[in-house]
Amino acid sequence: VRFADFGLSDDILRALSDQGYVHPTPIQAAAIPVVLEGRDVMGAAQTGTGKTAGFSLPIIQLLLAHANASASPARHPVRALILTPTRELADQVAENVKAYCKHTPLRSLVVFGGVDIAPQTAALRAGVEIVIATPGRLLDHVQQKTINLSQVQILVMDEADRMLDMGFLPDLQRIINLLPKARQSLMFSATFSQEIKKLAATFLRNPLTIEV
Ligand code: AMP
Repeated sequence: VRFADFGLSDDILRALSDQGYVHPTPIQAAAIPVVLEGRDVMGAAQTGTGKTAGFSLPIIQLLLAHANASASPARHPVRALILTPTRELADQVAENVKAYCKHTPLRSLVVFGGVDIAPQTAALRAGVEIVIATPGRLLDHVQQKTINLSQVQILVMDEADRMLDMGFLPDLQRIINLLPKARQSLMFSATFSQEIKKLAATFLRNPLTIEV
């Protein structure tokens, strides 16, 4: 299998070739077609398997399929939200997303706590399609009305088991309640505890389970 076989846009393929990626990893080969179909996914994958590209690439493709050229935030609403447990992971995912988007008109932003909120607010005001965030700081933006989540079409919960371990369940529930019901949801977790299965049952719709 090659990345070119998935029907990804030339702008994405060019970014992958810039990165030096030739062949998809197993999780990518399994996840990309399913996410492109619009299905919800429960993915069992550790860091290092290439799961970040496994969800980022099809999300970028789906957003590009309905691209919007305007630069105003009203016409550049947040359409994909990627939640991570830590700022380190948020940063890492954001770097990946930025690299995969670099030849596209899509904009992305990483949002985490412990740093000045003003530059995040300015970037949100300018308009970004993809937000990568830790739950606490995201909710700060919600409270300050500096982010609007009403147009989110795709939600990703990355390292969901760690988010539960860190006590983010109430924050996750608050965030999910702000999202449109009609959306695509993806959840990745290294482990499948009862709590993870319960969380998956509450916010995934008819998910396809991918284990690699
Ligand atoms: P992840 O598991 O998403 O954190 O990815 C682990 C590492 O593998 C990252 O450094 C990626 O840049 C790299 N990577 C992801 N997909 C591929 C691929 N298809 N070919 C080569 N390297 C990749």
